Amino acid sequence: MRNFLLIGLFLVSTLAIAQRNNGKGMLYLDENRRPIYRENIMIPEVNGYEVLKCDFHTHTVFSDGHVWPNVRNQEAWEEGLDALAITDHIEYTPHKDDVKVAHNRGYELLKEGTAKNNIILVKGTEITRNTPPGHFNAIYIGDASGYIEGRSNEQDRAAVMKAATQNSFIFWNHPGWQPGIEGSYEWIDFVDDLSRSKALHGIEVINGFGIHLKALDWCIDKGLTVMGSSDIHNLVAHDYDRSKEYVHRTMTLVMAKERTPEGIREALDAGRTVAWASKYLAGKEENVRALFNACVELLPSHYTEVRGNGNKTNWYEIRNNSDLYFELEVKEGSGTKRVVLYPRSAQLISAPAATTSLTYDVTSTYVRSDKHLSVELPLR
Ligand SMILES: [Zn+2]
Ligand SMILES: [Zn+2]
Repeated sequence: MRNFLLIGLFLVSTLAIAQRNNGKGMLYLDENRRPIYRENIMIPEVNGYEVLKCDFHTHTVFSDGHVWPNVRNQEAWEEGLDALAITDHIEYTPHKDDVKVAHNRGYELLKEGTAKNNIILVKGTEITRNTPPGHFNAIYIGDASGYIEGRSNEQDRAAVMKAATQNSFIFWNHPGWQPGIEGSYEWIDFVDDLSRSKALHGIEVINGFGIHLKALDWCIDKGLTVMGSSDIHNLVAHDYDRSKEYVHRTMTLVMAKERTPEGIREALDAGRTVAWASKYLAGKEENVRALFNACVELLPSHYTEVRGNGNKTNWYEIRNNSDLYFELEVKEGSGTKRVVLYPRSAQLISAPAATTSLTYDVTSTYVRSDKHLSVELPLR
């Protein structure tokens, strides 16, 4: 009986190997291959708008990035992005001895692949001037070649104005990235003039791992759109540890009427965005509030606890129906002091039965450089 089993085992394993090596002397180690799938970032609709995940600041070998454009397409698909722009530097092409300088080429190479992947590809470029004023991204551009490359103040302005004549959406990049340079992190005349000339439409409040808090105040005070982007040069997986539940590339959440290039543009022009990085959200108060309200739900009390002294405490479940992350700290009312809402999870909170509402600061959000979103949760 034992021999019979061994012979059977031998036959089965020989058969399996024969199937896998196909009789051609080649063995495929499929079990070692990383499974390829798209991660769906779940965020509910906000006031009827679809929340699109967009990264409008990325680089390839066509400027100082380390990857071929199609890698950006693969990454965007796997990470669940809706829209992507390649924004290679116009004035900085350190690989030019190996890769022909061609400012439209990254976009052209990606058009078909992104279409297959159902990623909205927006044409863009990074206008790369000395600091100050520094760098500007122009997206929804026309021809990216022929931008003025001189270094004078007039040429800085002319370069941005050229993007404006192409009806681009223009945002000021990483304004706080060189704080040691005088005037580099200030609302300078140059930028003020662009803004008044309708040639500046947004500011990158979050660039990669840095939140530029002063820029959030400028966006609010000057009526500019809040942007967040990765500015990724290497592989996304090289820079971001995506095995952690709240880690993803920095991006802009765009609340759009429809998932089309035009729908995104309308939302950018209207300022319906929130920048998202790691655990943090930064944006105009009305947008961050609308997003929070769409994602977080407090249920009516499910249990009343009666203590020995007769005091009653109500218990509630608070749910996060999204892949965003929220941390709350109580400001007013007696109840649970701190709540951490991990992606797609719930927590219990409690409060004396007499308490009718609790007010929390959502400390993982910024609605000004010195202010978190404050939410009042009515208790039922
Ligand atoms: Zn830059
Ligand atoms: Zn860049």
